[in-house]
Amino acid sequence: MIPISALLPEELAQTLQVSPPYRGRQLFAWIHHRLVFDFNLMSDLPENLRRDLAGRALPVALKQDMKLEDAEGAVKFRFRLLDGSTIESVILQDRRGRKTACLSTQVGCAMGCLFCRTGSLGFGRDLKDHEIVDQYLLLRSLASPDLSSVVFMGMGEPLANLDSLHRAVDVLGYGGFSPRRITLSTCGLVEGIRSLGERKLPVRLAVSLVSADADIRNRLMPIARSNPLPELRRALLEYQEVLGKRITLEIVLMGGINDRSEDVEALVGFVQGRSGQLPLRVLINLIPWNPLPEFSYKRPETRSVEWFQERIKQAGIPVTTRMPRGSAVCGACGQLG
Ligand code: SAH
Ligand code: SF4
Repeated sequence: MIPISALLPEELAQTLQVSPPYRGRQLFAWIHHRLVFDFNLMSDLPENLRRDLAGRALPVALKQDMKLEDAEGAVKFRFRLLDGSTIESVILQDRRGRKTACLSTQVGCAMGCLFCRTGSLGFGRDLKDHEIVDQYLLLRSLASPDLSSVVFMGMGEPLANLDSLHRAVDVLGYGGFSPRRITLSTCGLVEGIRSLGERKLPVRLAVSLVSADADIRNRLMPIARSNPLPELRRALLEYQEVLGKRITLEIVLMGGINDRSEDVEALVGFVQGRSGQLPLRVLINLIPWNPLPEFSYKRPETRSVEWFQERIKQAGIPVTTRMPRGSAVCGACGQLG
């Protein structure tokens, strides 16, 4: 069976050997615009073609394994892949009712950040391009056809699977979902950020900085040793020169670990740079750590988050705090797995 959700119209016609070529456009429209995944319902295709395709092609290959919903409109799905492994994808809703799909890029994650449940699972494998597109299609079909944004903040490290991700972004774009509404979040892989800049992919970039203190970052994020802060900063400046966009720095705040006054000063210093260095153009997003029973970190007190935010604001840096939405279904940041 051939998975086909990451094929563009011409490729559909070619790969499936169907003619005339406009059949590819029809198939693409059924799958991506009408969210119909059953060939039998594709009424403008000849019946013999529908039967033939049903025997050899898969519009979506993922199967829903579990669904959890909470009162705030968060819906978490577990999907089973063809090889039996599972991933999770979430729809989160903000106060204005706008919906964001949070998609996974890998089974598990190899980066091993000490505060993250996905990291504690270890690495399974990279998702294929169609497995990324399938999550987008299934979330729309099972929960919400209209999405305001897509974020790659589910399981896995997007920049460690950039080819599949790039392809998925292209397919979503072809289907009418602009890359400007897509955010990719990375733990800070310097090579990956350079490669993203070279590809000039017009998605938004978020970086899980966590701490601008090298010792703390090295302790919490094993990848920080091979991707040290000065190099990360240089890569972000270069990226900004090419794409000209504001970057989001995500700071998961853990009480007593990275929410102290020296931590906020280090963060402000990282953004503003030393004399002679260019400042970074960023939005800082504070994420109070979402508690996980198997970890001993603490969510910081609300007033300490407010104080941290105020100090950043005083330094003239735009800052927001992400309220923990979706935590009732363990669909909040870092709770997937
Ligand atoms: N691998 C990518 C994207 C997935 S993680 C990355 O690290 O950026 C998405 C976000 O969740 C990251 O900003 C990460 O720092 C954050 N996160 C991980 N565990 C968390 C937890 N327990 N509470 C709150 N945020 C967490
Ligand atoms: Fe992987 Fe991101 Fe979790 Fe780190 S925070 S382990 S990079 S998913």
